[in-house]
Amino acid sequence: MSFPSRRTALRALLRAAELDALLVTDLVNIGYLTGFTGSNAALLVHVDGDAASLVCTDGRYRSQAAEQVPDLEILIERGSALALARSAPERGVRRLGFESDAVTVDAHTALDEAAREVTLHRAPGLVQRLRLVKDDAEVAALRAACAAADAALADLLAAGGLRPGRTERDVALELEARMRSHGADGPSFETIVAAGEHSAVPHHRPTGTVLRSGDLVTMDFGALVGGYHSDMTRTVVLGPAAGWQRELYDLVAAAQAAGRAALAPGAKVSDVDAAARSVVEDAGRGDEFVHPLGHGVGLQIHEAPILAKTSTGALATEMVVTVEPGVYLEGCGGVRIEDTLVVRDGPPDLLTRTTKDLLEV
Ligand code: ZN
Ligand code: ZN
Repeated sequence: MSFPSRRTALRALLRAAELDALLVTDLVNIGYLTGFTGSNAALLVHVDGDAASLVCTDGRYRSQAAEQVPDLEILIERGSALALARSAPERGVRRLGFESDAVTVDAHTALDEAAREVTLHRAPGLVQRLRLVKDDAEVAALRAACAAADAALADLLAAGGLRPGRTERDVALELEARMRSHGADGPSFETIVAAGEHSAVPHHRPTGTVLRSGDLVTMDFGALVGGYHSDMTRTVVLGPAAGWQRELYDLVAAAQAAGRAALAPGAKVSDVDAAARSVVEDAGRGDEFVHPLGHGVGLQIHEAPILAKTSTGALATEMVVTVEPGVYLEGCGGVRIEDTLVVRDGPPDLLTRTTKDLLEV
């Protein structure tokens, strides 16, 4: 694990922003920078180095913090962010950055009072900028999370778990249990199983609806491994596919392939979205592809970069993103195909290995 090197990388951003320190209050960012996994903490990353930096948590996490963050000074106090803001002047901090995208208005007021002798500066998204590009350990965790999801689906299919008479909820529970048996700590988000008409609802929540022969069934699910989230979607047909179902599937598969082919270092994220979307638009179905093409995954299930028409920015090697076009025919059914991939020089590294051929089960 490279927590000290992540803090070193953050210091370069602090210097560029002319900040003496960053007060990190987003728990996901604290985990990324230190390895700490408790539910209450704040972290002061001082531009001068780890010796001047410290993490603060409350008494419940005294031993956990000592174990997980052996290389930083630990302060035990309940109001972690305020305690660190108060301690900033004695550490020579004058310009203190804070995560303005993760602080409520009330918390900001309290911080302003506690940090009387320093000036507070908005510094949103600094740690998120580092998290865009994954290191080897992160890619390994994401690969394992994707493999657990692939294996769970393979097991479900092999066991005949997708058949008329079962409910959406049965299938979701079985996928989640099978992911755990393949090493997942749990599902990375609430599993989506959407049968028949429900497959036209992109974020349908599984119900007691019974699967019927001829249904399209969309499963969108992922595994959590070591704090990292995987994300995949497959749509299958129960029994032989009808003509319209195969046509819809082939269209989405073509769009997904175009999106994957557009993944390259330097590619604008809006162009990647357009590469897939134009395939759907050319088929006259642009209005039925109602969400962005994809998103980054990592310590969160949805994180930067967002592959959308309106997003700015470009891809770089070692970014991990999903490519997930979908076409949804209201009252009828829909298809979505989603993989998780690592952007590389040359072809992207496909972490989701399940076939994209239309499965008739
Ligand atoms: Zn998904
Ligand atoms: Zn997704």
